[in-house]
Amino acid sequence: MSVFKSIPEFTTKSLDPIPCKFCKSKAIYSPKDYMESFGIKVFFCFHCQVEYCYYYNNYFTDITSDVASICLYTNINNKTYRWAIFDNSCRLFLMKDASINDQELILHFDHSCPTITPSNINEKIRTYLLLL
Ligand SMILES: [Zn+2]
Repeated sequence: MSVFKSIPEFTTKSLDPIPCKFCKSKAIYSPKDYMESFGIKVFFCFHCQVEYCYYYNNYFTDITSDVASICLYTNINNKTYRWAIFDNSCRLFLMKDASINDQELILHFDHSCPTITPSNINEKIRTYLLLL
């Protein structure tokens, strides 16, 4: 996906890959400058188009429970959407360019987030877009 192919520092591999929670592939360390500046380490599973963000300090102590966010990406009608899952909330964004610096918040759930996976994300987001 263009979101990650456009990141020039993508080839840096100074951290081991982590297991993807949706498939048997590994999520590869894919640092982004602006996230690194906040101490956030980004991993990306190319098979699922899923991004995992960990706070640096927590990454080395307990990677399984300290994920800061999980973001699923998908393309619908030539637009890229980002479904971001946090501790107790989730957000749907429309990406305006290849970074997350310019994105539009479309929908948010502050409790009871729907279960969205790489296999149902297209169907679910198409439904939400119809309801908006
Ligand atoms: Zn995966």
